[in-house]
Amino acid sequence: MSSAALPGSPHFAYRSGRLHCEDVALEDLARRHGTPLFVYSKAAMLASLAAYRRGFAGRKSRIFYAMKANSSLGILQVFARAGCGFDIVSGGELERALAAGGDARDVIFSGVGKTRAEMRRALEAGIGCFNVESEAELEVLSEVAREMGRTAAVSIRVNPNVDPKTHPYISTGLRSNKFGVAHERVLHAYRRAAELPGISIAGIDCHIGSQITETDPYLDAMDRILDLVEEVERAGIRLGHIDFGGGLGISYAGEQPPRADELWRSLLERVDERGFGDRELMIEPGRSLVGNAGVCVTEVLYLKPGEQKNFCIVDAAMNDLPRPAMYQAYHAVVPLAESSREAHTYDIVGPVCESGDWLARDRELAAQPGEFLAVMSAGAYCMSMASNYNTRGRAAEVLVDGGQAHVIRERETPADLMLKEKLAP
Ligand code: PLP
Repeated sequence: MSSAALPGSPHFAYRSGRLHCEDVALEDLARRHGTPLFVYSKAAMLASLAAYRRGFAGRKSRIFYAMKANSSLGILQVFARAGCGFDIVSGGELERALAAGGDARDVIFSGVGKTRAEMRRALEAGIGCFNVESEAELEVLSEVAREMGRTAAVSIRVNPNVDPKTHPYISTGLRSNKFGVAHERVLHAYRRAAELPGISIAGIDCHIGSQITETDPYLDAMDRILDLVEEVERAGIRLGHIDFGGGLGISYAGEQPPRADELWRSLLERVDERGFGDRELMIEPGRSLVGNAGVCVTEVLYLKPGEQKNFCIVDAAMNDLPRPAMYQAYHAVVPLAESSREAHTYDIVGPVCESGDWLARDRELAAQPGEFLAVMSAGAYCMSMASNYNTRGRAAEVLVDGGQAHVIRERETPADLMLKEKLAP
């Protein structure tokens, strides 16, 4: 049994030269279900969740899986059964959370552009809390709740103006970002919330960005949030919970983010030092729960040597794996079967008609057409961001649990893609 080091989760490993997810050989899945194929390890997801729970041991805390990272029903079901709530950002995500067995009371609703219809549906379902992102939203939410004879529990999402030191597109807690209420307006917003008849104040919230690999930005944000908790409570407004968002990074290419339990040990020390150890702590992790629990298996279609570049053309593309095109993101790509053939350097690209359709650049590969590759660390922000560009059906998904593999999404057919369309008379 060989065990070449792979980025990400120990639940993906070579056994006798074949890449496995838990006890299942990925090549067997690729042959049975076709490619591109997303494969997830349930044990990897639960292990990531357990690390957060270790960090919060003995504390009043709740974990809300930020389902934007991967909102496939079979994934949500794993987290619902494990006792997680859900952080949602749309009415559609609410329906998914409920369809997967989530309890509406364990749903919190983030996002800068909630519509009245979404607010109404969320109130009707009885969600736990709205993370309000602007003063204008507070007014509308109060109105909607009043019309329904209800009150909406809210926490105000603070923009703490902290640099999370990540890619600019996934940094959210800077003054220049559209998210949250500016630090200096927060007290004003809480005072207004306290006057509004349709609002009840539950807590405070922040989220500073994604793929954060250092502890310091979190400590800075925590300090700023706790400063605000002091200020708001001095004004006589009690904040029952502190929601600290998500954002913890994962290893895509050897990054070494803090472990969830270690990060929270440091943050809780800070919370205790400042005298807020009695508050309920809430978090909204996404990527760190699922990112390294999934891979995308793809077949090599053609090798195309060139003067400047060699291309390895595969059947997965930017519509399946949008992160490289969107963020110049790195995913490790490895063969499903180890080989001793000579390797060459390739750009790995998909069939979509865009030069931006690349999955990996300048990689050493020995693979031949008909063989399979695994794009690693593909559990987060891949399937949930997948599109049907070029009328490509979205990939199938399989959830592995020990030696069992369950199809949790069938591959889309062209008929599925045209279902809602009509020819004009
Ligand atoms: N909470 C909010 C409000 C977010 O916008 C995001 C994602 O950007 C998350 C949680 C989850 O972030 P991550 O997947 O980096 O943990």
